[in-house]
Amino acid sequence: MKAVVIRAHGGPEVLKIEEVPDPVPGPGEVVVRVRAVALNHLDLWVRRGLPGAPFHLPAITGADAAGDVHAVGAGVDDIAVGTPVLVMPGISCGHCAHCVSGADQLCARYGILGESCDGALAELVKVPRENVIAKPERLSYEDGAAMSLTFLTAWHMLVARAELRGGETVLVQAGGSGVGVAGIQIARFVGAHVIATAGSEDKRQAALDLGAHAVVDSRDPSWPKAVKELTGGRGIDVVFEHVGGETFERSLRVLAKAGRVVTCGATSGVDVKVNLRHVFFKSQSILGSTMGSKGEYHQLVALYAQGIFRPVIDRVLPLSEIQAAEAALEAREVFGKVVLVP
Ligand SMILES: [Zn+2]
Repeated sequence: MKAVVIRAHGGPEVLKIEEVPDPVPGPGEVVVRVRAVALNHLDLWVRRGLPGAPFHLPAITGADAAGDVHAVGAGVDDIAVGTPVLVMPGISCGHCAHCVSGADQLCARYGILGESCDGALAELVKVPRENVIAKPERLSYEDGAAMSLTFLTAWHMLVARAELRGGETVLVQAGGSGVGVAGIQIARFVGAHVIATAGSEDKRQAALDLGAHAVVDSRDPSWPKAVKELTGGRGIDVVFEHVGGETFERSLRVLAKAGRVVTCGATSGVDVKVNLRHVFFKSQSILGSTMGSKGEYHQLVALYAQGIFRPVIDRVLPLSEIQAAEAALEAREVFGKVVLVP
C-alpha cells in the first residue's frame, strides 16, 4: 500500500509517500481501507518530535479515519468486509479496571492511532475490532473522518469533565480551530450561551455561523474585558481551553464563581501562572481532559446520525499533497479540518 512515512523528525518536507507492506489483521483486529483521513495537531507533534516523548520512527501518523472494512482477523465474526466504518482513535488494553469501567481513555496502555502505532495516513490501517463503528449513512467519509478526535475531545471536556449545563455561559477559546468548532456545537447542543474567541474577522464570522452567540478578538489583549462586559460583569461558567500560555492566564481571569476551566492542550505554552487566591475564594476548578471513552464515541455517532452536529472541513486534498496540507495547518490558515483522500 501507499502510506505517508516519516523517517526523521522535521518540517513538512520529511513527509514522504512510500510503498510499504499491507497491514495484516491479527486476532481481534480489522484492516480498514481508508477513504478519508483528517489531520490533527497531534500529526504535527509526532512529525516534529517532542523532547522526552519517544515517538517511534519510522512513523505513519493519522488518527481520524473513515473507510470500508477490508479484512478481518481471527475471531472477528460480527462485521463484514465492505462495511463502511468510522475509526475510533483511542487504543487501549481492553481489560484493565479503567477499560472495563468505561473510561478507557485512562488506561495505562492508552495510545492514539498514529501516535502509539501506525495510523491512517495510508491506503490501509489496522485497528482492534472495538475501534470501528458502522458509519451513519448521512455522514460522508470525509465528514466522518473530520469529526472523530475533535468531537470526542470536546464532548468529554464539556459534558463529562466540566459538566456544562443548559443556561451556563461558556467561552470557547480559538473557536476556529478543529476542537473549537466542536466545542461551539456541543455547547449549543447542551443549551449553553456560547462566546468564542478568534483571531480574524473571517473566523469570528464563521464561529457565529456555527452557533456562537457572541465573539471576541483573541488578538486584542483586552479581550477579557470584552468577555466580562458580555456577561454583565459576572464572568464565564466554563472556559474551554486548549491554547495555554498567556491565554490560559486570561481564561482564569474571566472565570465566574464556581467556574471551571477545562483544558485538553496547550498549543502556545504549558507553563502558566495561577492566582490561587481567585481559585479558592471563588470555588473554581481547573480540569484536565484527554480524549474520551469509546462509550462517549458511540453516543456521538448516534448524534451525528441524527444530524445534530456538522463537521467543518476547510479543504479536501489528495494524500499526495500531505506536505502542503500539514504546512497549512501549521500556519493556522485553516478553519476546521483538513481532510486527505488516499
Ligand atoms: Zn486498559
